Amino acid sequence: MSEFIVYNTLTRRKEIFEPIHPPFVGLYVCGPTVYGDAHLGHARPAITFDLLFRYLRHIGYKVRYVRNITDVGHLENDADAGRDKVAARALLEQVEPMEVVQRYSDNYHHNMDQLNILKPSIEPRASGHIPEQQEMIAKILSEGFAYISNGSVYFDVEKYSISHHYGKLSGRILEDLQSATRDLDGQEEKRNPFDFALWKKALPEHIMRWNSPWSIGFPGWHLECSAMSTKYLGEEFDIHGGGMDLLFPHHECEIAQSRIANGKDSVRYWMHNNMITINGQKMGKSLGNGILLDQFFTGSHALLEKPYDPMTIRFFILQAHYRSTLDFSNEALQASEKGFARLMKSITMLPGLPTADKTTIDIGAWSSNCYQALNDDLNTPVLIAHLFDMSKQINLIADGRESITSEDIKILVQHFRQFAFDILGLIEDTQFSPDNQLLPKVMEMILQVRQDAKKNKDFALSDHIRNELGKIGIVVKDRKEGADWERK
Ligand code: ZN
Repeated sequence: MSEFIVYNTLTRRKEIFEPIHPPFVGLYVCGPTVYGDAHLGHARPAITFDLLFRYLRHIGYKVRYVRNITDVGHLENDADAGRDKVAARALLEQVEPMEVVQRYSDNYHHNMDQLNILKPSIEPRASGHIPEQQEMIAKILSEGFAYISNGSVYFDVEKYSISHHYGKLSGRILEDLQSATRDLDGQEEKRNPFDFALWKKALPEHIMRWNSPWSIGFPGWHLECSAMSTKYLGEEFDIHGGGMDLLFPHHECEIAQSRIANGKDSVRYWMHNNMITINGQKMGKSLGNGILLDQFFTGSHALLEKPYDPMTIRFFILQAHYRSTLDFSNEALQASEKGFARLMKSITMLPGLPTADKTTIDIGAWSSNCYQALNDDLNTPVLIAHLFDMSKQINLIADGRESITSEDIKILVQHFRQFAFDILGLIEDTQFSPDNQLLPKVMEMILQVRQDAKKNKDFALSDHIRNELGKIGIVVKDRKEGADWERK
């Protein structure tokens, strides 16, 4: 098998993946800040790094995948100003901050399960790692790259820049940052506006607070990822991932902190997924286009023409390369829905294909093309194009225009399922299996009986049918003409 190539955001080029301690791979991905329900923007990094996790394991690596949950320290403004996002939500909902964290972590996990995202190996929370973060602050202070100001501790970016390259990941230039940073609350504590908080002294209204040598306060947002990646993956590890929106300041700050605290560059490969746009604009609540995953699955958002299955969302995201932008539209999602159904139908058809004495299609070449696509920085659109090609071949076999041996059918089934299910993480849609084709027919019959009962004014029977179906998870919806049904 050819080598796995990844695009390293840090070096801005594709590199052959060589882990530090093969066959072990350390993978750290910035997870969600849990102060609201998960939206489409959460799905893309989750799916991108789930694919990476699956593929690395598939090609034989033992991966420790750490994806954190930010539950403290993420302020409303990236320049260390404003309220804590979780605390602000807690105030709004009149609950404990940790109730906010629990509720939205649960929602996030539920949505991730629906999208068939594998659970990370470790999912640490920032609030559970305050001592580790404090130790790191003490180290950075003792190295002379941070200063205490009014009970808060700030990283000294200017001093760091003398001996290190601040901005090497994001390509930002310090002078530009200086002029671009607006005057914000609390900025007067900093020597320079681009310095960032390692520890913030808590204002009286700030409810999440811990003792420290510097003040009663809380850690700066960027610090948790440096502290937790070091704790679980070591001072040097293989891959750090996240959305492109985290390049600056979050990941740039992580690099600087870890470099000083650990005395070395911590990350070998930086990988970033691009953003999802809606009508060309970045998705976000401020634009009023933040569509929640729950809304996609139920169709309850003004921009949505209908509900979309989690697998449609997953397939839609995988149809673009993770470093490309992806623009949302109903048309695009419906095209994905059809494409996904077509693939699944081929997989269902495969075992029942007519067999012959010889195989006229080249399964070996096809399979190696599929691997080549994955090895080229996880090129899923090309992989999916190969799957569609094979889909066409399968139809040609069914039509008798190509042929396959029974041995090769087994091989093809195994390979096709491996790419679609094990690696792309799609879940088999069983609507095409013979058993499930029965259900719509049976339902049609039952609803016809109910319709007749209503016509005969036997409402007891029609209600009984609806209630009994409800008990087994089928919801009947009366329409102007007849009725529809769906699974709860
Ligand atoms: Zn992070």
